[in-house]
Amino acid sequence: MKLNELTAHELLDLLKEKKTTPREILDAVLARIQATDAQIRAYVRLRSNAAAQEFSNGSATPIPIGIKDNICVTGEPATCCSRILEGFKPPYDATVIQKLKESGAYLIGSTNMDEFAFGSSTENSCYGPTRNPWNKDCVPGGSSGGSAAAVAAREAIWALGSDTGGSIRQPASFCGVVGLKPTYGRVSRYGLIAFASSLDQIGPITRDVEDCALLLGIIAGYDERDSTSADLPVPDYTRALVNDVKGLKIGIPGEYFVEGIDPQVRAAIGAAIEVLKQRGATFHEISLPHTEYAIAAYYIVATAEASSNLARYDGVQYGLRRQPAGTRKTPLVDMYEETRDAGLGNEAKRRIMLGTYSLSSGYYDDYYLKGLKVRTLIKQDFDKAFLKLDAIITPTAPTTAFKIGEKADNPLSMYLSDVYTISANLSGIPAISIPCGFSKERLPIGLQILAKPFDEAMLFRIAYTYEQNTPWHKERVSL
Ligand code: GLN
Repeated sequence: MKLNELTAHELLDLLKEKKTTPREILDAVLARIQATDAQIRAYVRLRSNAAAQEFSNGSATPIPIGIKDNICVTGEPATCCSRILEGFKPPYDATVIQKLKESGAYLIGSTNMDEFAFGSSTENSCYGPTRNPWNKDCVPGGSSGGSAAAVAAREAIWALGSDTGGSIRQPASFCGVVGLKPTYGRVSRYGLIAFASSLDQIGPITRDVEDCALLLGIIAGYDERDSTSADLPVPDYTRALVNDVKGLKIGIPGEYFVEGIDPQVRAAIGAAIEVLKQRGATFHEISLPHTEYAIAAYYIVATAEASSNLARYDGVQYGLRRQPAGTRKTPLVDMYEETRDAGLGNEAKRRIMLGTYSLSSGYYDDYYLKGLKVRTLIKQDFDKAFLKLDAIITPTAPTTAFKIGEKADNPLSMYLSDVYTISANLSGIPAISIPCGFSKERLPIGLQILAKPFDEAMLFRIAYTYEQNTPWHKERVSL
């Protein structure tokens, strides 16, 4: 088997036995990108010095990793796949990048995403869409679609994504890989270009659960440069990789299994529940009564934060600057308007307008404040449920990957595809998506597991047990 087909833990074993070298692993991944990425377009750019990479002898994890284009790497462009950040090169490393570099990981390049992470399909990228490696007519999900597609296509061993409302888990589900959104505060956001600061988290996208635990262990931890990061020790997540769920109490929320869910997805989740039952977990029907308000609350809170975060792209400090031919208002205001009009895509403009509206005086109490109150109610639903439960299981998305273009003109139906992932962001809790089967069209289906704040170990334990007793993570795309 080629080296790029293996997981990081398999590669680390080979390295330990001196059966391969970091150089060979990197070359295998770069060769694969050369051979297949023209079809998939998971990457928007490769790092300039790939071929010249030197590995120091003591590197703990010299694993090639794809980085979403909204995470800062010193001196490398970071554009969030928006024209407005054209030419921007961050002068510093994100904390997660610093940690990866210290561990010896090799940053392959930047992966495609929806502009500023606004979307669920990676179609809102100024570089054009990424294709789903299982079916090239389909989207890979989004917004971290490039990262998920790269891992599924064996063009990266690991990838980093970011998740504000589902952007790691939904593409992981659509591409048949593992994706984890950590607890808010578990991973530093320093150097992650902000979408909605109270919801954003960086997290791992990998081939299996063991790799996910390894990668989270590297990037997690307190960071004094992110005041919202949690000052808590990071457990050794690999110790949670036990094939045992005996006695665990898992909830099934009725609100997640209503109309709109694809029957094939429902059946796959039902079968997954049976697997875990046989391993000794008990299942309990629960209610999370405020679920139906999650999408509305999210699109108020997230767009309000996005509109204020995006105000800084005005042609002065970052990226693109445009000046119209004649004078319309004043040269400065003309420059702002022309730059933002030319630099931002339609979805970004839509979100800025929505967010600015709900924050404006007279509407603040009716929209933004109400959105925050609903957010609290959603969090309280989970707090209450977790008094008696160890975890909750749901589908990751109501359907499998949809066709490119299918929802592009219908923002509402696009927003609805996040219905199962958004509540974890609103309440800050950790959630993982793992492969749990295929549709008859051979598109992957994802199972979502949610746990209490900072209990990522519980997610790993359940996910690992499931994986050890099912074949899905071993399925390969044929490209
Ligand atoms: N699809 C959601 C949105 O468009 C979530 C995006 C994300 O998590 N970044 O807002």
